[in-house]
Amino acid sequence: MNSYDVAIIGSGPGGYVAAIRCAQLGMKTAIIEKYSTLGGTCLNVGCIPSKALLDSSHHYEDAVKHFEEHGIDIPGDIKINLEKMIARKQSVVDQTTGGIDFLMKKNKIDVYQGVGSFKDATHILISGEESTEIEAKNTIIATGSKPSTLPFITLDKERLITSTEALKLKEIPKHLIVIGGGVIGLELGQVYKRLGAEVSVVEYADRIVPTMDAGVSKELNKVLKKQKFKINASHKVKSVERVGDEVIVKADNKKGVEVEFKGDYCLVAVGRHAYTDGLNAEAAGVKLTERGLVDVNEHLQTSAPNIYAIGDVIKGAMLAHKAEEEGTFVAETIAGQKPHIDYNLIPGVVYTWPEVAAVGKTEEQLKEAGIEYKTGQFPMRALGRSRASMDLDGFVKILADKSTDEILGVHMVGARAADMIAEAVVAMEYRASAEDVSRMSHAHPTFTEAIKEAALAATDDRPLHI
Ligand code: FAD
Ligand code: NAD
Repeated sequence: MNSYDVAIIGSGPGGYVAAIRCAQLGMKTAIIEKYSTLGGTCLNVGCIPSKALLDSSHHYEDAVKHFEEHGIDIPGDIKINLEKMIARKQSVVDQTTGGIDFLMKKNKIDVYQGVGSFKDATHILISGEESTEIEAKNTIIATGSKPSTLPFITLDKERLITSTEALKLKEIPKHLIVIGGGVIGLELGQVYKRLGAEVSVVEYADRIVPTMDAGVSKELNKVLKKQKFKINASHKVKSVERVGDEVIVKADNKKGVEVEFKGDYCLVAVGRHAYTDGLNAEAAGVKLTERGLVDVNEHLQTSAPNIYAIGDVIKGAMLAHKAEEEGTFVAETIAGQKPHIDYNLIPGVVYTWPEVAAVGKTEEQLKEAGIEYKTGQFPMRALGRSRASMDLDGFVKILADKSTDEILGVHMVGARAADMIAEAVVAMEYRASAEDVSRMSHAHPTFTEAIKEAALAATDDRPLHI
């Protein structure tokens, strides 16, 4: 029987990063993945394919709506070849997952394909084409998450679908009904909106992206409405059925009046839940929480001292980069180091266009905590760079402590916000004040000038360009 210092169950961004870091630290490492490709949700059916389709659909929309204004005339009709678009997405996925195979080989990590299940706290059975058993001094559970649904919905995966099917549709929906105005609903909703579908979002909370700063959510709502999204907040979905090629969603609005939505596809995007099926966690003494998450302490250690858990299968934001940080954290903990993660500084991004990005506290969280703060906000439309590319929507908002000027939260809607948020993370890691950021040179013309201007506005209300 092969024996390892560390075995990792699950090869998503949590698992494969943990494996690489364990190997870098000199530990004999194995990774177990039940699917034939590595990379987990993120690389196969999550971050990477969704961004590939967002990019393709963005190009199409630019060609149809904006090229003419740029002085680019395209003779003839611009057509979508959906099959080719989906095939390109798949080739991006294949290249990316293939890259993980390479990294496993490079770092001399043994890869086992099959379902990993605990026999006891130090032995794992792997059932796949060739079943086997391995011994591991330490194990990291990185089994991720699966899409959630609502109790009254029977997903047929043809017209009543989750994000996984939405990434490989064979036709463009005429009317896509999206249940859940969170990250998946808006990103994939925007892909099909750009390709020509009518898109109706039905959201239970009183606003889309309800966990983000309310100002950001309001701005995104405004922009999406301009893009002709039909957004129905404060709607409680109560039934979803398929009749032939039609899907019918019924919901009660905030006045308690029943509203009916009829479309040809319904994307259910109401969140994801931790995945531990087949793991046989109890055989190793690993406890789950009431909500089915693997229970961990501050060292991400489970109730079995030699078993750790990371990523979507434990508490916290379900984000690839959060899983990656935890993978590194646990590898270093097992190696006897004292790593640290500041969860407040894990940024969140929505890859719609304009993009949405945030780090730190929202205004609502600061108010609830009774922290006195000041706000500096700068509109993207006041930047030369925004006018050059016709990306005028959005703003950057900086929240800073009223007495110390320390930056407590940064929230932005705008072109390239996903990349710009890194500056805010660096600033907050080093506990910068708004004035510190306002005195740093920002290249002109760039979208990042909005960060400097928002910092000037937060420091002592002296932005330069408005
Ligand atoms: P996963 O990536 O879910 O990987 C877990 C792996 O474990 C899977 O491969 C699974 O097959 C395997 N596994 C499970 N049980 C076993 C077992 N018993 N034996 C062997 N293998 C097992 N996050 C972002 O940060 N940015 C984004 O842009 C983004 N976009 C997304 C878009 C979509 C459509 C979706 C669905 C998610 C997106 N996410 C995004 C979220 C991101 O994908 C997850 O947060 C991330 O993949 C979690 O990583 P993980 O390693 O914890 O688990
Ligand atoms: P989410 O939590 O972002 O959004 C779910 C939405 O559904 C929420 O707005 C919620 O209020 C709503 N909802 C819940 N129950 C409902 C009901 N009965 N009727 C109507 N609306 C209801 O979850 P998601 O969009 O499914 O994404 C799942 C996870 O994947 C998220 O945790 C997210 O972080 C991650 N993800 C991240 C990215 C990214 O980082 N860009 C992209 C996609 C997914």
